[in-house]
Amino acid sequence: MKIVVPEKISARGIQEFEAAGFQVVQLTPASVASGELAKELADADGLVVRSAVKVTAELLKSAPKLRVIGRAGVGIDNVDVPAATARKIVVMNTPGGSSISVAELALGMMLALARQLPKADATTRAGGWEKKSLEGTELNGKTLGLLGCGRIAAETAKRARAFDMKIVGYDPFAKPEAAKAAGITLLPLDQVLAQADYLSLHVALTAETRNLLNDGAFAKMKKGVRVVNCSRGEVIDIEALQRALESGQVGGAALDVYPKEPAGALPIFALPNVIATPHIGASTKEGQERVGTAIAVQIKNYLTTGEIANAVTA
Ligand code: NAD
Repeated sequence: MKIVVPEKISARGIQEFEAAGFQVVQLTPASVASGELAKELADADGLVVRSAVKVTAELLKSAPKLRVIGRAGVGIDNVDVPAATARKIVVMNTPGGSSISVAELALGMMLALARQLPKADATTRAGGWEKKSLEGTELNGKTLGLLGCGRIAAETAKRARAFDMKIVGYDPFAKPEAAKAAGITLLPLDQVLAQADYLSLHVALTAETRNLLNDGAFAKMKKGVRVVNCSRGEVIDIEALQRALESGQVGGAALDVYPKEPAGALPIFALPNVIATPHIGASTKEGQERVGTAIAVQIKNYLTTGEIANAVTA
């Protein structure tokens, strides 16, 4: 069996394939850019991606033998799942493997917004001592609104509880018992928007969640609300967010994801109350170890026994 790995996954994941006697071909970004991926896919049985490589219907044409595509992570928007399904290629992901990593980043972003950490760091390094303008706020006693109450939201809620935050959430598909167990009080969207001091996004990207936060939604929020997005960039209308930040309706925003990635020099980055990171939510040693190993085991099991785990359907 031949597995093509055009993005870096954990060494343990590669070892899982090799221990099963599979041939593993690892590609660098440069070799992917120069067209090596399509060539290597000509006789491949499996393909493992993270979020950078786009698995399009066109690319799949160069993979006549391909039986399985594994996403070492959660979001599957870089894979044309309908095109793969039409070819009977199974698409799998690794839900849960990076939830703690993303939740820790979301908490870190809330703390960074509350205490203006980027500004404190930059001004102190520059020789300043801006204690007055750096007075922050506590997370203690504030209301955290979670949009989407799945795996990452539950891990975020668990950590926010340790900061004595009150946690409300909106998710039309969430099971009330699961939300209760995570300490999340489920409410209608408008009530979550109205109550939150911090709003953290953890929805899947769907037709309904695209531009979920738009001008209308920002207008319903508490003035000065802080917005954290570690889900998918398209969930926020980024120009509407910029308008809300400029008017003071939104007090600060921390973004890990963008409508287009790499994000480039977005106008919103010029605002002082914006914190930006380059889609690093799942990029931890532990998270990558978990998802790299999990996807290798799942693919190996499918190709050797036919067992399907965590399949994503079109
Ligand atoms: P999950 O499937 O466990 O949770 C997503 C939740 O969104 C589900 O509970 C679902 O019911 C809810 N949802 C769907 N449609 C909704 C709607 N219209 N309104 C409100 N809620 C809705 O997924 P997860 O593992 O918790 O991941 C959450 C998000 O984080 C995804 O968008 C994923 O792509 C993203 N993610 C980002 C990173 C990163 O590096 N920043 C890493 C992993 C995952």
